[in-house]
Amino acid sequence: MASATREYDCLVVGGGPAGLTAATVLADADLRVALIEGQRFPRYKVGESMIPYNYFPLARIGMIEKMAALDFPKKYSVQFVGRSGRQSQPFYFSEHLDHPCAQTWQVTRDVFDASLMDNAREHGVEVFEGLRAERLIEEGDRTVGVECSDGPGGSQPFVARMTVDASGGAGLAMRNLKWRIDDKGLKKWAIWAYYRGAKRDPGRDEGATTITYLEGKNWFWYIPLRDDLVSVGAVGDRDYLYRDTGDLATIFKREVGKNVWIREHLAPGRVEGDYYACVHTSYRARYCAKAGLVLVGDALSFLDPVFSTGLYLALVSGELAADAIIEGFAQDDLSGKRFRSYGETMCTRIEILRRLVYAFYARDFSFKQIITKHPHLKGAITDCLIGHLDRDFSELNRGLSEFLDLPDAITHGRAKM
Ligand SMILES: Cc1cc2nc3c(=O)[nH]c(=O)nc-3n(C[C@H](O)[C@H](O)[C@H](O)COP(=O)(O)OP(=O)(O)OC[C@H]3O[C@@H](n4cnc5c(N)ncnc54)[C@H](O)[C@@H]3O)c2cc1C
Repeated sequence: MASATREYDCLVVGGGPAGLTAATVLADADLRVALIEGQRFPRYKVGESMIPYNYFPLARIGMIEKMAALDFPKKYSVQFVGRSGRQSQPFYFSEHLDHPCAQTWQVTRDVFDASLMDNAREHGVEVFEGLRAERLIEEGDRTVGVECSDGPGGSQPFVARMTVDASGGAGLAMRNLKWRIDDKGLKKWAIWAYYRGAKRDPGRDEGATTITYLEGKNWFWYIPLRDDLVSVGAVGDRDYLYRDTGDLATIFKREVGKNVWIREHLAPGRVEGDYYACVHTSYRARYCAKAGLVLVGDALSFLDPVFSTGLYLALVSGELAADAIIEGFAQDDLSGKRFRSYGETMCTRIEILRRLVYAFYARDFSFKQIITKHPHLKGAITDCLIGHLDRDFSELNRGLSEFLDLPDAITHGRAKM
């Protein structure tokens, strides 16, 4: 049975980092904001390692002091480890950055996302948990709200001048409007688990992310979390991971046995809970916005997680989209055109990272080669890895092109005007 229509200035679908950032910034501008989240929090989510420039959107929504109280491991560095266990010099962010953001965090997502949600409520966002947005409501070519369901038969229309789609990989708009376009060169499988009591490196390396290689361009992540847990995942091609069995525990243990560093670090620990698996294809929506609708975070685009950029893109897109909406309300214009600059900025940043991901997976290429030949390009690579993307990377592109064929830039993902 349909309930009475609810009216707001803005609706945000999805209570992940993208949606909660957008909603909080919008509420701070005195707009009436409803956030619709299909699950009840806290809820599990993978995607735990942050990069330094996540700091700035978190600061904007008043989260930095709260992060300190949440007891997440502090991340000062990333290190890359070869198959034989040979460790590169860890890359410390403070060598490149003289700013508090040089220390970032490894977050347990149920705790982090719930804290973002509490924060959004404190800033005036009205949150509806356990309510699914089923479809966009369209009037002509304008989105005017969403039809929600809170269980069998119960439906409720929410209307607003602006809808933010932050529904993650479920992609409400991508599904409703058939906007999802896969980046077929980046399709990978992941199998992961959580270990209690596994080894942590000493001192400031305790919270480091380690990326360590398997055969080919397959790899492991090792992310120390709070409560003595470590998130460990193997990522690779289907033919590699699933070559002789489909049993997750067997595959995981087989791959652990192939990597000295991982084996030694996991030895004192034990698996807690289930093994998890997913296949992730990178994608970008055909458009980032149209009249009355804007897409943020994974609802706009997903990029292979090797450089831990998902949360960065979620937080930054949430903030930038909200700023464009606030300006749209001020100018009384919430047309697709209003999001031209948002689309350009997001597509440019995603493209910079996408090229680097392709380089990571390119056969017979390693970043060591380019840094040996062009030492001055280390700074540009570092900027990509910390999230400092607001600069010119054409020299880096030229350098990379000497070693590999970079993919053609994706031309979709701008605003529909
Ligand atoms: C294997 C793997 C490892 C990763 N590792 C990292 C990492 O180390 N670091 C990193 O930064 N990123 C990582 N990521 C990426 C990261 O998880 C995502 O980029 C990030 O969670 C995106 O945030 P979001 O807010 O856009 O979406 P989400 O966090 O997915 O939030 C979307 C929310 O929308 C809700 N929702 C969906 N549909 C509806 C609906 N119809 N109605 C109402 N609510 C709805 C969902 O319940 C969910 O709470 C990883 C991803 C994968 C697959």
